[in-house]
Amino acid sequence: MDGKRESSSATNKYFDSDVLDPCIHCGFCLPTCASYRVLGTEMDSPRGRIHTVKAIENGEVQLDATIAHHFDTCLGCFACVSACPSGVHYDELIESIRPKLNEVGMRDPCQNLFRKLLLQVLPYPKRLRTILFALRNYSGSSFQKMLREFGLIKLFGKQLEAMEALMPPLIEASFADSFPEINPSKGPYRGRVGLVLGCVQRCFDPEVNQATLAVLQANGFEVVIPRQQGCCGAVAHHQGLMKETIELGKTLVENFGKPDNQSESDPLPAIDAVLIAASGCGHTMKAYGKLLGVENTFKVPVFDIHEFLTKKGLQKSFLESLQPLGDSIDISEPYEVAYHDPCHMIHGQKISQQPRKLLEAIPNLLIREVEEIGVCCGSAGIYNLVQPNEANELGKIKVKDLKKTGASIISSANIGCTLQIRRHLNNSLKVVHPMQLLAKSAGLYNSPSMN
Ligand code: SF4
Ligand code: SF4
Repeated sequence: MDGKRESSSATNKYFDSDVLDPCIHCGFCLPTCASYRVLGTEMDSPRGRIHTVKAIENGEVQLDATIAHHFDTCLGCFACVSACPSGVHYDELIESIRPKLNEVGMRDPCQNLFRKLLLQVLPYPKRLRTILFALRNYSGSSFQKMLREFGLIKLFGKQLEAMEALMPPLIEASFADSFPEINPSKGPYRGRVGLVLGCVQRCFDPEVNQATLAVLQANGFEVVIPRQQGCCGAVAHHQGLMKETIELGKTLVENFGKPDNQSESDPLPAIDAVLIAASGCGHTMKAYGKLLGVENTFKVPVFDIHEFLTKKGLQKSFLESLQPLGDSIDISEPYEVAYHDPCHMIHGQKISQQPRKLLEAIPNLLIREVEEIGVCCGSAGIYNLVQPNEANELGKIKVKDLKKTGASIISSANIGCTLQIRRHLNNSLKVVHPMQLLAKSAGLYNSPSMN
């Protein structure tokens, strides 16, 4: 192991509690671990990383660039947490280590610069939109097709190649949020909720928020969408940038509590819950109490949209409006959907049955399950941009598994997974959010990306 040092005294205590002690080295976590799956080395497995942290804490090794690399290969998918029979909190381990990986000397300077640039753009929709606006004629053009076909994009380096490959065709809604701040319920009133748009989701797949809004309204909810809302901080959180995470999180909470485009005497109305249709964001927002302090977090609960709708139940009139999707209403020819579980939903929030239950409300829809439920697709925040080789391998494995189901469409409830899977499907199948399927079935919304 690299980084051996002379002193054996315990000088690097990472945890207040002994969160790693329950590890019995059984290896049950290894088959579910995405990084171990593609790299095959113990140092790139949960068990290996736990061993490494214990060695650092015992003063047997020190965290240097070589060891840091083995933590950078972790996707933070938390599949190992779900698989562990001993209740080891690997999630706490990786969250504690990540801020240290950002320190000087832990990464190649080019890699650091690339990460900094991404973090200066992705959480800021205005900046992201400015760049996308400049690229709008390129996206979906024959020039783009030609560059991809002849592999010319490779000339710009692996990371720019990865960014280019994830870029979807851009539509008008990618460049502006056109939602009113207050959107009344369309059925009998059942409550008022706030909707977080997600910074990447609103630019790269704006139809998801349009469909989510339509489904909520049709189920009796008034939806408040503060115009000034920014990023929830998830991208920074996944990178261990705690100062940025806290700043972005606090600003988002303030946008929902005290919108700065309204006077104090005319605030947006109070909401019962904050909802989000991107699981990476939901995972971070649910941790605001710990990250921002309870005094700074939302005063109402945060729910993933599937969790919320399942808890409240779909309204009778909405259920009655649902029509079969696809060309056939013959039950011997169901509309087959492969549902992909995003890691921050299934492992991070323990939500897996709710999206399936909602989809099953659509007549004649059949969910096809993949063999490797809960194994990461390689998206993992910005992982597919900063670790493109590993992410590509994982993307190919996931797409092969999804295709094997024979389903005619894929459904994913996280924007990062959607972009990663679309990229590796290479247009052979469509990937849509469960809210898009529900909205289309209810005749609320004619999604161009599903036609
Ligand atoms: S983390 Fe859990 S599953 Fe993995 S080796 Fe340790 S005890 Fe076993
Ligand atoms: S978080 Fe995911 S990639 Fe990281 S060690 Fe656990 S299973 Fe492996």
